[in-house]
Amino acid sequence: MHDSLRGKVVVVTGAGRGIGRAIAERFAGAGSAVAANDIDPETAAGTAAAITDAGGTAMAAPADVSDSAQVAAMVDAVMAEHGRIDVLVNNAALISPMLHFLEADEAWWRRIVDVNLTGHFLVSHPIARIMAEQGGGAIINMSSGGATRAHRSFTAYDATKGGIEALTRAMALDLGPYNVRVNALVPGAIDTSGMTADERTHRGENVPLGRIGEPLDMTGAALFLASDDAGYITGETLRVDGGMLAQQRSATVDIVRPETFPAVEGL
Ligand code: NAP
Repeated sequence: MHDSLRGKVVVVTGAGRGIGRAIAERFAGAGSAVAANDIDPETAAGTAAAITDAGGTAMAAPADVSDSAQVAAMVDAVMAEHGRIDVLVNNAALISPMLHFLEADEAWWRRIVDVNLTGHFLVSHPIARIMAEQGGGAIINMSSGGATRAHRSFTAYDATKGGIEALTRAMALDLGPYNVRVNALVPGAIDTSGMTADERTHRGENVPLGRIGEPLDMTGAALFLASDDAGYITGETLRVDGGMLAQQRSATVDIVRPETFPAVEGL
């Protein structure tokens, strides 16, 4: 799958665990050289080591994506190692803490905006310039269902994700003439925190495909959008959510419950 990714240099932010790690490992499996970023140098190194142990090519690229000096040093390190960057996956984000809007404070708002939205800008900007000079590249931003349907106590997070979808379209317009494509992925409910069996069942009931997502579920779409197969796709927002955003009401409160659906044998 996606032969065009062989030999490409891919930077994945927030790759120390969760969705970012799964995406980094899948790119490495497709023959790409991966720079695994994380704010935590140990988890970044852990992802890079897992990839190299499996026979792939990877380097740890630790940096706080909200700190432009750290980002510049990270980009310099990747360029010193590989001399080019073909794909950027802006995945790093703060998902917690959750705060009710009435209990929110400025420091909470600023930190989440700094990491989730400004971080996308700070990493994308130097890398887009490198891609433009090279003659092309692909950038994938990580949105959330929160961009279009709110989560309770997630005002800052949801606002950053709406911003990321707007940023994706705006970057796609500015970077299109340089053959740099910019798209966004919208994960659904992906178990990256080690949910209990009960939580997985409960969350899965509300997904039209009937199950919670795994980090691996995000990887095929990421590789596709980065590959030459997506060469005419830019400014797009692709949901990888088991159908969650397609539904009007979640299954547990819908009038027509899934357990009343016809049995396969009766069809
Ligand atoms: P996760 O497990 O919390 O992983 C996020 C990674 O980003 C962590 O390794 C974290 O490091 C790192 N990180 C945090 N702040 C950073 C910074 N300033 N600089 C560099 N790295 C930083 O999250 P996830 O569930 O895999 O989510 C990945 C992406 O998908 C996020 O953009 C998230 O908003 C989006 N998403 C996830 C879901 C879901 O259901 N999981 C749903 C919708 C959207 P530390 O852990 O060391 O802080």
